[in-house]
Amino acid sequence: MADSRATIIPRAEHCISRSSMSEQAIKVLYGLKKAGFQACLVGGGVRDLLLGLEPKDFDVATDASPEQVKETFRNCRLIGRRFRLAHVGYGRNIIEVATFRANLEPEGDDVHVENGRIIRDNAFGNIEEDVWRRDFTVNALYYDIKNFSVIDYVNGYDDLKQGVLRLIGEPTERYHEDPVRMLRAIRFAVKLGMRIEEKTEAPIFELAHLLTDISPARLFEEILKLFHSGKALQTFESLRHYGLFAPLFPQTEAILAEEAEGFPHTLICEALKSTDRRIASGKPVTPAFLFAAMLWEPMQAAMAPMLEQGMPAIQAIQAATDQAFSKQRQAVSVPRRFAIMVKEIFVLQARLMHRSGKRALRTLEHPRFRAAYDFLLIRAIADDSLSEYAQWWTKIQDCDNAGREAMLLPNENKKGRRRGRHKPKSI
Ligand code: ATP
Ligand code: MG
Repeated sequence: MADSRATIIPRAEHCISRSSMSEQAIKVLYGLKKAGFQACLVGGGVRDLLLGLEPKDFDVATDASPEQVKETFRNCRLIGRRFRLAHVGYGRNIIEVATFRANLEPEGDDVHVENGRIIRDNAFGNIEEDVWRRDFTVNALYYDIKNFSVIDYVNGYDDLKQGVLRLIGEPTERYHEDPVRMLRAIRFAVKLGMRIEEKTEAPIFELAHLLTDISPARLFEEILKLFHSGKALQTFESLRHYGLFAPLFPQTEAILAEEAEGFPHTLICEALKSTDRRIASGKPVTPAFLFAAMLWEPMQAAMAPMLEQGMPAIQAIQAATDQAFSKQRQAVSVPRRFAIMVKEIFVLQARLMHRSGKRALRTLEHPRFRAAYDFLLIRAIADDSLSEYAQWWTKIQDCDNAGREAMLLPNENKKGRRRGRHKPKSI
């Protein structure tokens, strides 16, 4: 299938300059060249530089084998089984170096395909062969350190200029090989403001279910890339449009499907907008907040029968959160520390309903207060009955100790709470 007629875009005709690459990437490219190997920047690094964006990471492709890469650099580690790769560098400055891969056929010791899915892909090849196993044409441009030109076998440079996201090869086959490519299509289309070309787009609706076969750990990584891209809201709407949200968050989708524009939808959209705002202003984000937004309603649904059976509220929230996470984990693995944080945020939602006595003051001191308060603010946008609470917790944070004491409400524990005068329905 390899086509040797590459378009070469010489240095003078493109905008990639070495000064916009990381020092470590340049070191790796020159290091390989000096050792007599071919070395190219490839993938998102080339794509983003051509678009005038700052690349998230720099990937290098070479004709050196992983072992040869290891021999070339002192600070090199070999990783991966499915794709054997070399990592050069330390900490944040790791450059991923991949050896050119050959065509997938015929299957042999180095390549393993099951039901059309690539399980192992370690047959090394040359650059012309490497091109065809990449996903989108705009991700298959090679910046050659030898003469600073961009090598293009698949018309990726034109697609990039036109803003078109196009899979290389036959889309249905390529999605079967690796269903995660469907998520990548959405991610790049949203992030780069590109249009998904018709033939690349059409099969997604029918093949979205293939994601249920992907390892939950890999899906967790993809979810972070999708929702921490700075365009989480748009990504969410797009994933739902293509039917890709259901395999990622089955319980959430079941609830959203029932309530088209209702409270759960508003809550999620507000949470995602808030994540996008935080990223835009350079603030840190945690996956716990995303999972809190997605699992709040499933948790409520699981909690209702527990409360009916007389389980105390806090205990019910904890048990219902565990239940929601155990279902979620069948699709996407969520590291324990985030699940614990979500549980704390949920339990605190109940505590935030109490604005009297020492207990309220202690809530303010809770290490997870800030996250829980942020979550309450989001809920309050979606549910008016909570805005009184949101305002009260906003105000009390600005008070000194005496002011805080003065704000405390008379003990709600006695009659008020039982009658549930101001108590919103959900907790
Ligand atoms: P970004 O790093 O901005 O998320 P990227 O395109 O660099 O985007 P990576 O996951 O870093 O994405 O992958 C680097 C390159 O490897 C891609 O550009 C693409 O050429 C190739 N690639 C990655 N994942 C796949 C895949 N699932 N199928 C085919 N090719 C892939
Ligand atoms: Mg990359």
